[in-house]
Amino acid sequence: MTSPEPGDALGALLDADRWLERLRAQRVHLPESGELESVEVRLRERLAKVHELESARDLLRERYDRVAQESERLRGRSIHLEHALDDSATSPRDYAALQVEAVHARALADERDDEALALLEELNGLDGQLALERLDARPDVARRTELLERITQLRESLDEEMGARRETREQLRRSVASPLGERYDAALTRAGTSGAARVEGGRCDGCRLALAPLDLDRWKSMGPDRFMDCPECGRILLP
Ligand SMILES: [Zn+2]
Repeated sequence: MTSPEPGDALGALLDADRWLERLRAQRVHLPESGELESVEVRLRERLAKVHELESARDLLRERYDRVAQESERLRGRSIHLEHALDDSATSPRDYAALQVEAVHARALADERDDEALALLEELNGLDGQLALERLDARPDVARRTELLERITQLRESLDEEMGARRETREQLRRSVASPLGERYDAALTRAGTSGAARVEGGRCDGCRLALAPLDLDRWKSMGPDRFMDCPECGRILLP
């Protein structure tokens, strides 16, 4: 087996590194991750709304309990007064006063009952709204679960592919002889993504910079074993 031309080996290594970069970007920018983010924003907003409704409902319930207790107390008072009225020992003067008080206590108890009823209606309304919010959240909750599962699957398969491609990449790197390999490594560390780039239409396709006419001429005059670096990004320029 003949060893590959240095330019071909570099080209294969460059392609392998670009593949890895594409997979890394794909892993970070999955469309599912974008959708998950908007689903979670909606769910958080809904949760805030639910909490708001819950605290309003708790306050209302406290008020209802207080009013109901007060009504019970007034009812008790009115019953007690009515018993006193039934008592034959009560003097006519006391009787009239007791009667006024009994009527008053009953009237107040009726008022509290009306208030309690109105509060109960409000409470039912809030419970209804809460139930509706929870119902409306269901599709997003289900979608969130789906997306999380899908993202895990996609990442696993991307990781697998990246693992295999990384191995191939290491083999390709070993096929590039010294000192060209070290030159590639240094350019990769400096520029990121890859340590080489191709010249297309007079531009380095790593940094997109157009080569000056003199640099382009110099690059064209290089033999197959000699390589020039991009003056802008420092990547080794390949045809
Ligand atoms: Zn460049």
